[in-house]
Amino acid sequence: MAAFEGKVAVVTGAARGIGQAIAQRLAQEGADVVICDLQAEWLAETAGIVEGLGRKALPLAVDVGDSEAVNACINEVVKVFGKVDIMVNNAGITKDTLLVRMSDDDWDAVLRVNLKGTFLFSRAVAKHMMKQRSGAIVNIASISGVIGTAGQANYAASKAGVIALTKSTANELAARGVRANAIAPGFISSKMTDALSEDVRKQYLSRIPLGRFGTVEDIANAVVFLASEQSSYMTGQTLHVNGGMVM
Ligand code: NAD
Repeated sequence: MAAFEGKVAVVTGAARGIGQAIAQRLAQEGADVVICDLQAEWLAETAGIVEGLGRKALPLAVDVGDSEAVNACINEVVKVFGKVDIMVNNAGITKDTLLVRMSDDDWDAVLRVNLKGTFLFSRAVAKHMMKQRSGAIVNIASISGVIGTAGQANYAASKAGVIALTKSTANELAARGVRANAIAPGFISSKMTDALSEDVRKQYLSRIPLGRFGTVEDIANAVVFLASEQSSYMTGQTLHVNGGMVM
């Protein structure tokens, strides 16, 4: 039997990139998938992938930084499916610039999506998972939140915050059978990293022992592991998926 047969997974930022690959892998493993992203018209592609794998897709437009919208989203999930088993907080943005040039707006926008969004969805699903006495939360952090990349003070702080939030969540929910773990991807080929200059890409590549950038599937595979019973003795951990860039 597929690992997630009969399970319901919610993935944020699932319209493209890593989030789309996560939705696809969870569906391949048998899960029905709630596809969350900012705009309704972006959701059809991922919904088609999930349905093409014979699973149910529930596309919901939601801004992860909007508390009311997040609560409404999870209420809808519970109304439609009766439960939520897997929560993947993947939505994220960057607004890179040097610290001395960083505006208040650049700071607030990144913290709002990356950290507050993860908090809001974790809080919303925790109530249901605690009642169910089961559930897995997987938060997508970043290598930047571990090493503090130059030019990313807002992003690095948000992702370090995600790692700490994951630990507190894990501590609070463990006794109720709910696990929370994080993944810290290194340099993954996606629209987010396509925006970087050729020079920066070359610099990163020279620092990756495995000699290649990661793929969205590398991260999706790690999510499957952390959401499944294969990792049932892991909580509060951060899995580093970075080709050996940081050890
Ligand atoms: P991406 O930009 O391709 O996709 C991010 C998705 O999040 C988009 O579909 C976007 O619409 C959505 N999103 C943005 N703001 C949102 C909001 N307020 N509400 C709902 N959805 C929102 O990026 P990606 O590379 O696929 O990154 C996915 C996650 O992985 C992010 O959290 C990112 O920080 C993290 N990450 C990426 C890399 C990388 O190298 N690509 C490395 C480390 C961590």
